[in-house]
Parts: sequence; C-alpha cells; structure tokens
Amino acid sequence: ERAPVVTIDGPSGAGKGTICQLVAERLDWHLLDSGAIYRVLALAAIHHDVELENEEAITLLASHLDVQFLAGNDLVKVILEGEDVSTSIRTQECGNAASKIAAFPRVREALLRRQRAFSAEPGLVADGRDMGTVVFPNAPAKIFLTASAEERAQRRYKQLQDKGFDVNIDRLLSEIIERDDRDINRSVSPLVPADDALVIDTSGIGINEVLELVLEHINKNL
Ligand code: C5P
Repeated sequence: ERAPVVTIDGPSGAGKGTICQLVAERLDWHLLDSGAIYRVLALAAIHHDVELENEEAITLLASHLDVQFLAGNDLVKVILEGEDVSTSIRTQECGNAASKIAAFPRVREALLRRQRAFSAEPGLVADGRDMGTVVFPNAPAKIFLTASAEERAQRRYKQLQDKGFDVNIDRLLSEIIERDDRDINRSVSPLVPADDALVIDTSGIGINEVLELVLEHINKNL
C-alpha cells in the first residue's frame, strides 16, 4: 500500500457506488469497485457451469479470472474474457450469486492481491464491504455508509428501473435483507465498520450532503 487509499464500505444500496465515483472524480484518483469483481466471478461461474456451492472450483476460477476494468469517460467498463459484461453483472441475480461465493474464505483470499493491485498513485478510492477492515487496513481515511433496508430497496429499485430492468420492490427488499444477513453473518470478512471508520447513516440525507461529509473526513485524515 504505497499510494494513499480511501475506503468506503457498507451494505448494498447505501449510496457507495455514487459517492465513490464522485469522490474519485473530485480527487482525480483511481477507483476500485470490489463488488464488481465478485459479480464478474459469479458470472464467470455461471458461464462455465461451475456450481456456486463448490468452493474449490470457484477458488480456482478466481485465481485465473480474466477480467479487465477499462476506465471510460464516465463509467468503468467491465470486460470478462473479452466480453463487455458491464450491464449483465448488475442484475439482482448476479448480485445474489456474488454474495454466495463471497462467503468462501479461499475465494476472498484468491481475490486479495488483485484488489490491492488497484492501489496506485496518486491514490485509490476503494468501494466494498471489507476495504477498510481486510483489504486496505492501513488506509488513512475510512468511511462506512449505511441506510435503512427500506430506503436502500427504494434506491435500488429506481436505479434498476432507470437501467431498464423490470423489478418488484417487495422482492427487492427481501433480497436486500437476505443479502445483508449473509454479508453480516459470514465468518470471514463480515460486513462491519472498521474501528477507525466514520459511520454515516445516509437515510433521508441527499447525495450532496453525504459527499460533503465524506470529503471533509478525507481532508482531515490525509
Ligand atoms: O457491492 P455489490 O452489490 O456489487 O457486491 C455484490 C456482493 O459481493 C455483495 O453482496 C457482497 O456479498 C460481495 N462483496 C464482498 N466484499 C466486497 C464487495 C462485495 O463480499 N468487498
């Protein structure tokens, strides 16, 4: 960890994606969307007919995963084995599959180095569940974003609808609760704020206000 890292962790739908993108733009730093790595791995498993329950096979797949993140004007393109999967990894199904394989200790271990390799000058904004606790424990500035499950379901609903996905809000809420439960209760890298993280509950506050709080914390700690 030579370059400075800002870690932003939290459950899905807490606004991490948007905030990380804005912070990376503001600082002109690199961005790591670690969830995308778990999603791509899940998609690769589905493509190659590897069972999501098979830790050994998924671990093997993880260590050979051929994925590239191409920075575009606006969005980062995710390329799996030469194919643009930026859209297909965003489905709820892929997120659920990702959260299943993310519970395997050896899978997480296999992806550690790949994630740390994103740390480069002038700095990195890392988005995930365990960025501040496991992947970049020495990061100078750590943030944990959270929000009520209902609010997160609402936000996800809008997001998916805007992308043209047909979604059911009740199902979305129960899947969010189920996924949180899995992420919080797993034995390795559970979803918890780092001891030295600033915890921000984003329920009912706008994105600009959250961004200001985050930037203020970063400025204080870098
Ligand atoms: O953030 P996103 O919803 O894209 O992540 C998908 C899933 O990947 C999460 O539900 C979580 O189980 C897993 N994940 C993780 N550790 C990370 C990032 C994501 O376990 N650092």
